[in-house]
Amino acid sequence: MIPQPTQDPEALERVLGARRVLFVGAHPDDPDAAAGGTVARLVAAGARVRYLVVTSGDKGVPNEELADPRVFIERRETEQRASAAHLGVEEVVFLRQRDGEVFDTLELREKIVREIRRLQADLVITHDPLTRMLRQHPDHRAVGFATLAAVFPSCRLASFFPEHQAEGLSPLDVHMLLLVGGDEANLWVDIAPAFERKIEALMLHESQASAFVGGVRGRMEARARRTGAPVGLELAEAFSYAWLD
Ligand SMILES: [Zn+2]
Repeated sequence: MIPQPTQDPEALERVLGARRVLFVGAHPDDPDAAAGGTVARLVAAGARVRYLVVTSGDKGVPNEELADPRVFIERRETEQRASAAHLGVEEVVFLRQRDGEVFDTLELREKIVREIRRLQADLVITHDPLTRMLRQHPDHRAVGFATLAAVFPSCRLASFFPEHQAEGLSPLDVHMLLLVGGDEANLWVDIAPAFERKIEALMLHESQASAFVGGVRGRMEARARRTGAPVGLELAEAFSYAWLD
């Protein structure tokens, strides 16, 4: 018998009480699609939220529109900034690595540690690198692994990237980690209060409209219903959480 998933109310309360949140995503629209409703709820509860987006999604161009990648990159970044702003995100940082060519390198870890230290994040959200799903984008795995390494132990030890000290970036313990896109969720956020805002934000990613078969709303609503059903929520986003303290 498959055990019924259960929500831990204390874990949920702790996550929704985060003050400084960094979502580290592989591509523009990943944070909004995976957690836009949760981001809107965190902002409404007074959190400061930033995105760190590793690529600018230059390979996410529809086949029939293949054109100058520089123009397309600018378009995707503009869309991501607008969408994030609609959710109340205070800043989006792009690392501009090439789409589809991301690896878990020391250089990438340093850039992630830098943003965690700059915000002094108490909650970091990223891709679950260990999903068994074969259709997982390799950039998601690479970003997930690099972020896990950044969160533990790199960002808590001054001996990792000591040059940050001279820039006033202090080491810190990140206490909470949320992973998206994993196989077994253990935390569900009710996004009914923020669902419309999430849809509006996603629709600002106009260059990706053709990727949403059935339309943004239809696809996202079906996903949110499916996600919430096991725990009795009408519309939800799911995560797996870990405490690091
Ligand atoms: Zn992606």
